[in-house]
Amino acid sequence: MIKKKVSIIGGGIAGMASAISLIEKGYTVEIFESKKNLGGRAGSISSNDGVIDIGQHIFLDSYKNFIYILKKLKVMDRIKINQNLKIPIIENKRKYYIQSNFRFFPFSIIFAILNYKNLSLINRLRVIYGLIKLRSFKQENKDQKVINWLFENNQNNETINKFWSIICKPAFNQDLEKISILHFTNLFETMIFKPKKSISICYWKEPFTKLIQKEFLNFLKKSNSKIFLGENINHIKEENNEIILIGNSKEYKSKNLIIATNLENAFKITKNKITEFKYIQSSIINIYFWFDRKIMTDDFIAFTNSDLQWVFSENIRNNKNQKIVISLSDAEKLLKVNNEKLIKIFENKLRNEMQINKKTKLIKSKVIRSPKATQNISSIKLNTSKKIHFIGDWTITDLPNTLESAAISGINLVKNKF
Ligand SMILES: Cc1cc2nc3c(=O)[nH]c(=O)nc-3n(C[C@H](O)[C@H](O)[C@H](O)COP(=O)(O)OP(=O)(O)OC[C@H]3O[C@@H](n4cnc5c(N)ncnc54)[C@H](O)[C@@H]3O)c2cc1C
Repeated sequence: MIKKKVSIIGGGIAGMASAISLIEKGYTVEIFESKKNLGGRAGSISSNDGVIDIGQHIFLDSYKNFIYILKKLKVMDRIKINQNLKIPIIENKRKYYIQSNFRFFPFSIIFAILNYKNLSLINRLRVIYGLIKLRSFKQENKDQKVINWLFENNQNNETINKFWSIICKPAFNQDLEKISILHFTNLFETMIFKPKKSISICYWKEPFTKLIQKEFLNFLKKSNSKIFLGENINHIKEENNEIILIGNSKEYKSKNLIIATNLENAFKITKNKITEFKYIQSSIINIYFWFDRKIMTDDFIAFTNSDLQWVFSENIRNNKNQKIVISLSDAEKLLKVNNEKLIKIFENKLRNEMQINKKTKLIKSKVIRSPKATQNISSIKLNTSKKIHFIGDWTITDLPNTLESAAISGINLVKNKF
């Protein structure tokens, strides 16, 4: 039996999710990815410093669609999953924890908040009250901003700065003043309240491309599918019942096409297919530091009352040196600062707030800027024909841009349309 072929433009999470789902359903795929490696915004880059990720990624064990892909690629054993909720937080050089050894929801979360001594007891109770209100929240005013909702629901500057901000800023890549109530409630509902699980923070401990590329290519090979790495599709046209993909040096014919690129490129490739969209773009900056000795034993630390936001470490046993990455969300203002200055400012902050010994030497550093890391889309109109489909984190407009929204878009499309 001849298997039906589907072409996919884009080898990020959404493109890979759709490819895996199609192959599972008996299709073959043909993927066009403009870069030499897979993963898109979650992917890695190679430089003199070796292979490193464009940005530090974390996810929760409730990201079931994203985890489905990792399972299909058989890489779950290379993912670190923190079964018990434990988030170290530094404020003014003192360390606190949002921590609970309970696995059962909602006690896991309640005890974790009660343990969080960076907040006074009354403010810890305020946070629990806020979470309860959030769980029973009914959306009436979609345009309301999260910050207003929090104040209306008994939160104050302290609970906002020391709890809501450190959780929400990286999850939404936006300041609380800009996050829509729709995204806020949907994220808590789908990732925390509905799965009714303890919160397990997950991340990969090797560059993402190293984690998935070989496995994904093998997966394609087994189904006689093809991939064209380094092939940029400039635009498409429809002719005689076929779609022509115009690549850099070649044209390709397709009968069924999935466009799994970022929003801007999807717009460029198709021109008139996306007629209306409104979005706010937010950036992320990651600053990598390599020190000549270990400066932290935790895998990650969040900071309150500090510009450091979240710091992640690589803890390789028997390795004297340590790689650290500072992940700065909603980093619009910092885009104007040059790399040399950023490194200087953040090395000083790191040394000061983590009380790093003066003898500890910085071996090298690297700044990676993602000015278009996420797009918060409030409205979009896609003129899709039966043969052309759009996927990508930006197509899931009721959730923020995450690994999970990208995976959902690919998996759901195949479930519903193929
Ligand atoms: C620095 C950073 C940190 C992040 N941290 C987190 C996190 O901790 N947790 C989380 O859940 N999410 C995080 N995200 C968001 C997450 O990475 C994205 O939501 C997700 O990877 C988007 O996947 P996608 O497949 O929809 O799009 P993309 O990853 O953008 O994939 C699109 C692919 O299409 C390719 N492409 C584009 N145009 C063309 C063309 N014309 N021809 C051929 N190929 C093309 C691109 O090269 C790319 O590979 C982060 C993002 C960044 C940038």
